[in-house]
Amino acid sequence: MRPTGKLHLGNYMGALANWVKLQDDYECYFFIADLHALTTDYADTSQIAPNTLEVALDFLAGGLDPERCTIFVQSHVKQHFELPLLLGMITPLGWLERVPSYKEMQENLSSKDLTNFGFLGYPVLMASDILLYQADYVPVGQDQQAHVELTREIARRFNHFFKTGGDEVLPEPDALLTPSPKLPGTDGRKMSKSYGNTILMTDSEPAVRQKLKTMVTDPARVRRTDPGDPDKCPVGDLHKVFSTPETLTKVYEGCRSAGIGCIECKSWAADALVQLMQPIQERRAGFTNVRVEEILAEGSARAGVRAEQTMVEVRAAMQMR
Ligand code: SF4
Repeated sequence: MRPTGKLHLGNYMGALANWVKLQDDYECYFFIADLHALTTDYADTSQIAPNTLEVALDFLAGGLDPERCTIFVQSHVKQHFELPLLLGMITPLGWLERVPSYKEMQENLSSKDLTNFGFLGYPVLMASDILLYQADYVPVGQDQQAHVELTREIARRFNHFFKTGGDEVLPEPDALLTPSPKLPGTDGRKMSKSYGNTILMTDSEPAVRQKLKTMVTDPARVRRTDPGDPDKCPVGDLHKVFSTPETLTKVYEGCRSAGIGCIECKSWAADALVQLMQPIQERRAGFTNVRVEEILAEGSARAGVRAEQTMVEVRAAMQMR
């Protein structure tokens, strides 16, 4: 996860909540991708360190447990600098230019100059992040599948050039597709920091209720007496993700018959969010910054040991001794 600031409910439902489940079934590595932040925020790096701490706090608050998984900072594991350089030597430029998000992000972030080498090469950095741990699986949503596919191609090319006679040095990882429910922001578009429509995992109860009050609804419900359709309403989408089946039934019946008003319906959605977020916020309050730094240092040391095992094999295969 990139350190772009405090995480929002879209980050939580789209990734973190799944990761929390995975930590019991797999040996998991989760990291804060501060080097990736540099690929776009190279001109002003002042927020990367404070944001790294915020994301780490959100990881822990969300339920990642440093006893059951490894949580670390990408730049604290120096092998994340070394492997991308080596893999960059064998990655054809055309592969990078074809990555769908390359053009897309350049257009979306038009206020930034993204003609830099680091940005073009970020899929190599991403491939290294995965291959350094000789990972079997990468938990991703549909939109990230192209990156895993490119990682597989880079691994295949490496293994083809540098045969060792034993097992392949860089096994091709599989995508572990994780469910990421549609989560709208307050303006009805996908919840995203760049749209300014987020509900943060750290938002207080009054802030959540206030944000819900201003949330857009089914445009067909102009007056209280107009029936609406929760399937065409962003608040309805929130209910589908967070509310109990009983509340959901009340929403569908009440909305379609104009039996309930949007204000009431939104207050039920806010209730569900507050209930979800309360234990998360309590856990967050239990961590000091000093403790978080310790956890990151321990995790980075552990990740470094695992990454070095891979690098020993990589250097030997490339005859870089
Ligand atoms: S009643 Fe609820 S689901 Fe229906 S339009 Fe209003 S906010 Fe949306």
